[in-house]
Amino acid sequence: MTGRRKLIAGNWKMNGLKAQLGEVSAIGELAAGRPDIDVALFLPATLISAAAPLAGTVLVGGQDCHQEEAGAFTGCISAPMLLGAGAGGTLVGHSERRTYQHETNADVAAKAARASQHGLEVVLCVGETLDTREQGDEAAHGWVVDQLLASLPEGAGSGWLTIAYEPVWAIGTGKVATPAQIAAMHGALRDALVEALGADGQAMRILYGGSVSGDNAADILHLDNVDGALVGGASLSAAKFAPIIAAA
Ligand code: PGA
Repeated sequence: MTGRRKLIAGNWKMNGLKAQLGEVSAIGELAAGRPDIDVALFLPATLISAAAPLAGTVLVGGQDCHQEEAGAFTGCISAPMLLGAGAGGTLVGHSERRTYQHETNADVAAKAARASQHGLEVVLCVGETLDTREQGDEAAHGWVVDQLLASLPEGAGSGWLTIAYEPVWAIGTGKVATPAQIAAMHGALRDALVEALGADGQAMRILYGGSVSGDNAADILHLDNVDGALVGGASLSAAKFAPIIAAA
C-alpha cells in the first residue's frame, strides 16, 4: 500500500455540448459506486456550471487557467472564474496547450500556483515527444524529469497537486506506452519528486495518460508508481469510462 488514493480523470478537450451532460450524471453514478478512489472530469469551461450539480462526488475541473487574476486577456479564463463556475480543479500544462498555445514551463508553474491560491486541485501534465523517445529511454527520462522540475510551482504539495505523465506520441493515437516504459518513467519521476519535495514527493500522485482504454487500463493501473489515469477519448462516454474506473 502506498497510501496514495487512485485518481481516474477524464479530459474532454474541446468536446461536449449540453446534450452530453447525461454522460456527466452517468459518470457521477459510476463514481458513487467506487468511494475508494477519486474521479475527476476536466470539462470545457462552457459546461462547468451545468455539470457541477450533476457530478456527485466527481471533481469537475477546467482544462487550463490563466496565471493572472483578471485583466485584458481576451478569451482566457482565470482561477476565480473556474471556482465561481463550480469547478474544484484544473489541468495545467497539457501537451496540446504547450504545443498550440506555446505555454512554457514557467507559464505552467505560474498557472498551477495561481490555481492553488484559489483552492483548486491541479493536475500538471508532462511528457516527451516521439523525437525525444527515439533518443532512448534514458534521454526520455532526463527530458521529462527536467520538464517536471521546471514546471513545478512554488509550494507544490501533494494535498492539491497531481502529476500526469502523458507521452505526446501516445495521446489520441491508440499507441500506448508499454508497461515497462510507463513503470520506468514513473519511477524516474517519483525519484525526482522525492528529491525535490522529500516525503511529500512520495505522497504525490502520478497519473499515466495516452490512449488509456478499457482494454489496457488493468495492465497500467497496477504498475508501481502509477496512481491513476488521465483519459481523453475514452472519458467522453460513461460506457467507455466505466471499465477504466472498474480497473482502478
Ligand atoms: P487520449 O488523451 O486518452 O485520447 O489519448 C489523453 C489526454 O490527452 O489527456
